[in-house]
Amino acid sequence: AGDSTDTRAGVGLRLGGLRRAFGSTTALDGLDLDIAPGELVALLGPSGCGKTTALRIIAGFETADTGELLMGGEDVTGLPANKRDIGMVFQSYSLFPNMTAAENVAYGLRVRKASKAERAARAAELLELVGLPGRDKHYPHQLSGGQQQRVALARALAVSPRVLLLDEPLSALDAKVRLQLREEIRRLQLELGITTVFVTHDQEEALSMADRVAVMKDGRLEQCAPPNELYERPATPFVAEFVGTMNRLPGVVREGGTVEVLGRRLPVTTGQGAHPEAGRTVDVLLRPEGLQVHTGEQDGGEHATVRVATFLGSTTRLHLTTDSGAEAKADLPSWEAGSLTPGTRCTLTAHDNPVLVEERDNPV
Ligand code: ATP
Repeated sequence: AGDSTDTRAGVGLRLGGLRRAFGSTTALDGLDLDIAPGELVALLGPSGCGKTTALRIIAGFETADTGELLMGGEDVTGLPANKRDIGMVFQSYSLFPNMTAAENVAYGLRVRKASKAERAARAAELLELVGLPGRDKHYPHQLSGGQQQRVALARALAVSPRVLLLDEPLSALDAKVRLQLREEIRRLQLELGITTVFVTHDQEEALSMADRVAVMKDGRLEQCAPPNELYERPATPFVAEFVGTMNRLPGVVREGGTVEVLGRRLPVTTGQGAHPEAGRTVDVLLRPEGLQVHTGEQDGGEHATVRVATFLGSTTRLHLTTDSGAEAKADLPSWEAGSLTPGTRCTLTAHDNPVLVEERDNPV
């Protein structure tokens, strides 16, 4: 860890009402987002929701039809990309193949007319920072994918940008390297205090790295919140289902903000807008870890049959069908799941509160 925890190299960003259409496709439909200095915000959402367009507008590679972009309080909406003080890392390594690692890193400094000695020193410093000491003379083809992304990161940071933009930087890497680099990018980002916007469609990556995750849908912000809040208190069914596995089980709304589901009456932990009135049939959104499975047909729950049991190490995920025809997924500690093989009759109850309910007659 660095000793520079007080420094805030980054500046705040404000995206205000950004709209961008390509022909008849609306990529951004009024995107509002405030990012604090030094914060890492992940833009998360399904393919086509406008993540990359938003990032390209921040970078200055793309212009918004309407809306504004502020960097450190300054309106940069019309400022060209090379005047914005931004570092960027892309999915594909995009290093110059005919330049060494050090030359790649120093590229931005050469453009800025730094001396040769200064460039060499800065390149060495940055390659060390990203965990590649002694690789300065290697060409991209002599480096692994993960190492190339480290060089790309060093290159982006070499010019001391005020904002770092990362466009799916890990998605071309294999799982193990991806996990390592996740941690390293986050460590570096915290150490440097650089404002960072990270585009990903991998929810685990977003949750594990970001200060806040901005979930996008159809060119708009659906919710922006710290990872635990997003997971525990999703504002909408879309967020709930995008950010983790969800069960949708039939339930009935009861008095006092409660809902009856799987034979239990439980308080609903969140709910944006009005709670449906008592007596209404709803979809109850419950996480797999919030379900309990008892062997045999017992009272006080719904009877079900185990369809599939998938061993995942410490937990086992059961796919079940209730006798009323609902599909459910339950995560159990594996030591509890041993006897719950496919075909087993069981009773399903809920031992955690639903995260959300949604009126059934609202088609999604
Ligand atoms: P992905 O995860 O697949 O990269 P995304 O969330 O980054 O998706 P964008 O790349 O921002 O989404 O695209 C949003 C929408 O705008 C898509 O429907 C896309 O096809 C469209 N789009 C983006 N750029 C262009 C372009 N230059 N010309 C035409 N359509 C575009």
